[in-house]
Amino acid sequence: MKKKDFLRAIVERDLAEGRYDEVVTRFPPEPNGFPHIGHAKAITINFGIARDFGGRCHLRMDDTNPVTEEEKYAKAIEEAVKWLGFEWDGPVRYTSDYFQKLYDYAVQLIKMGKAYVDSLSEEEIREYRGTVTEPGRRSRYADRSVEENLDLFERMRKGEFKDGEHVLRARIDMSSPNMQLRDPLLYRIRHAHHMRTGDDWCIYPMYDFAHCLSDYIEGITHSFCTLEFENNRAIYDWILDTLRLGPPRPYQYEFARLNMNYTVMSKRKLKELVDSGRVSGWDDPRMPTIAGYRRRGYTPESIVNFCNSVGISKANSVVDVAQLEHAIRDDLNMKVPRVMCVLDPLKVVIENYEGSEELEASYYPHDVPKEGSRKLPFSREIYIEREDFSEHPPKGYYRLTPDQPVRLRHAYIIRCKEVIKDESGRITEIRAEYYPDSKSGADTSGIKVKSAIHWVDAATAHEVEVRLYDRLFRVENPQGIEDLNPDSLKIVKGAYVERAVIEEKPDERFQFERQGYFYPDPVDSTDEHPVFNKIVSLKDSWSKKQQPSKPAPKAAEPKSPKQKQQGANEGEAAPLNEEEQTRYERYTRELGIGKAAANTLARDAMLREFFEQALAERNTPVTLANLVVNEVARELKQKSLEALAFTPEAIARLAEMIDEEIVSSKIAKEVFELMTESGESPDRIVEERGWVQISDPAQILPVIEEVIAQHPDNVAKYNAGNQKLFGFFVGQVLKATGGKANPKVVNKLVAEKLDEM
Ligand code: ATP
Ligand code: MG
Repeated sequence: MKKKDFLRAIVERDLAEGRYDEVVTRFPPEPNGFPHIGHAKAITINFGIARDFGGRCHLRMDDTNPVTEEEKYAKAIEEAVKWLGFEWDGPVRYTSDYFQKLYDYAVQLIKMGKAYVDSLSEEEIREYRGTVTEPGRRSRYADRSVEENLDLFERMRKGEFKDGEHVLRARIDMSSPNMQLRDPLLYRIRHAHHMRTGDDWCIYPMYDFAHCLSDYIEGITHSFCTLEFENNRAIYDWILDTLRLGPPRPYQYEFARLNMNYTVMSKRKLKELVDSGRVSGWDDPRMPTIAGYRRRGYTPESIVNFCNSVGISKANSVVDVAQLEHAIRDDLNMKVPRVMCVLDPLKVVIENYEGSEELEASYYPHDVPKEGSRKLPFSREIYIEREDFSEHPPKGYYRLTPDQPVRLRHAYIIRCKEVIKDESGRITEIRAEYYPDSKSGADTSGIKVKSAIHWVDAATAHEVEVRLYDRLFRVENPQGIEDLNPDSLKIVKGAYVERAVIEEKPDERFQFERQGYFYPDPVDSTDEHPVFNKIVSLKDSWSKKQQPSKPAPKAAEPKSPKQKQQGANEGEAAPLNEEEQTRYERYTRELGIGKAAANTLARDAMLREFFEQALAERNTPVTLANLVVNEVARELKQKSLEALAFTPEAIARLAEMIDEEIVSSKIAKEVFELMTESGESPDRIVEERGWVQISDPAQILPVIEEVIAQHPDNVAKYNAGNQKLFGFFVGQVLKATGGKANPKVVNKLVAEKLDEM
């Protein structure tokens, strides 16, 4: 049995404890772009969990920003959810359905003295917020009376003020260590036409205000969102608690968003590709949108399978796009008919063949549990793939040459008699002869061939257009237009496909033998002018193509210097025995553990026992394995298992805290040291010392700005090309936060900030 993911574990617990009678989830997209594969993941989580527990899932368009939102995007989202095979409960809902209710809740907060109209400028608001190390100051407008606030808020609604003149803010805590709680904005003025409410409103609720209340209004129980909302959870709870809503009431839980290499996953960046005409639209078959995959020929099953296979985690990682390609291959391999199509035709005239015949040819190989076949026309003139003939073959060439016969798939063996060329020396035709007693399935010729090639009958084949796609981006971590792969689309005109594909249409999708999987383009293909999209190749050609220059880093394995050292030692060890090999396979394949750590665990019984016990407590295999193989192993050199001050459970929790980015791995080492001495729980240690990692950009940015302001000389040197100073800035920021800032976030933000300079 697969271990239950942590979200399902939460739902199960809540139902068991009787907190809710029924699970109600929601998928809350903003209709400002077509949904992408990341949304597919959120869809499978929200709809999948509701389905698994017999609950319901709402589809709610989060339409609170009139400037960017459009009906066509809402339609695309509906289409995508349906196509993936899910059904929302009731009508499609919109946050704008609740604008009046939300307004009333805001009035209630004002009356309670919990919200006020602020009239600081945007810049002042930012300045007053303070920094991670300094508390903020409250606005001079915060002491307005309830009456004045009510009056101003009403006049905001009536449209008496310009954009930005006032905002409504919650009165929470200007010195909270969670910067999000420093009197967050609840409403802003925006004179813009809304796709549904038209000009009824000129104030719009902010996400933090609208989301929790919409969840509450709809009776949502579990509000799942991505990790970047972690620090917003406190506002979510504050608003519902302050308004005394519930129980029952919804709670927010965060999971890691899906990231994929060679892919950009931001609607803003995808929109740029569309608007700049780099792709043909949101549904261009190269786009990572659900509409794009659909048009390309992906099946909904393959996408849902992919999302499920990636799993649900609390730690951000990057999934290899090859895993998605594997999912579609895996789905189609056993389902679709295999037929023949020649992309780059070379005519072959079989001189000793007269008339024509129809050969019986199965659509499916023996191991596919499907039946069906077609009559394959054969006559004197056929097309083969140009590259399946070589006049001067390199060593190891197994196909047709002047001296080497070849089998035509499902048909006869032929041999080349003569090569015909035009004036430029290009081969235009092969004259050949066939062996009448070599018919496939009844071959008595005794002729040996080294391979079989695909072909089509010239008289009956249909001419088609084929669109060959490659990855849209040429680099692993693309930023946008500058990283586009110039060869992502190749159009082949004048390809030939066998008759049955067009005239019988045994299926929607096909395997073109030796070429890949194909699907008629739903927009451009017609019977008169068929167009086929290549869905995916038969094998993963990319990893091989790319490997020599730059092996793809394994996303799930954080690379520490320690790990690399171990990798280097690995070669000295004796090979694994069969039992160890089985364990090793499980650790690397199923659990995604790095090779070095998996190797150690597979061999060392004591470490393994410790690891397995810990793993049973919390499902964080990769980080846990590293802790056990490095930290715990060191302790076990001096002590016996019984003498350890900590339990497997405590180590599992520490691993989880790393994965959840509660502590940095650097701090985790210190926590571990204290655990070995005192045996205290990691939570206690972290809490007492205030070691919680800071990941919120709003808290980190001000520190970065401070560091940059203090070192103008180094900024100048950096800009002049001294790249080494990047590390200096990151180091200073980490130091200024006492090592508590999340280094990943710091790295990214420092890079962005320095870029802006
Ligand atoms: P993007 O940042 O890509 O433009 P978004 O987060 O702004 O997307 P929303 O429409 O706000 O898009 O997202 C709807 C839901 O889908 C949210 O709950 C969000 O957390 C989730 N979601 C968005 N991107 C991903 C992703 N890459 N992986 C998993 N869930 C995602
Ligand atoms: Mg968003």
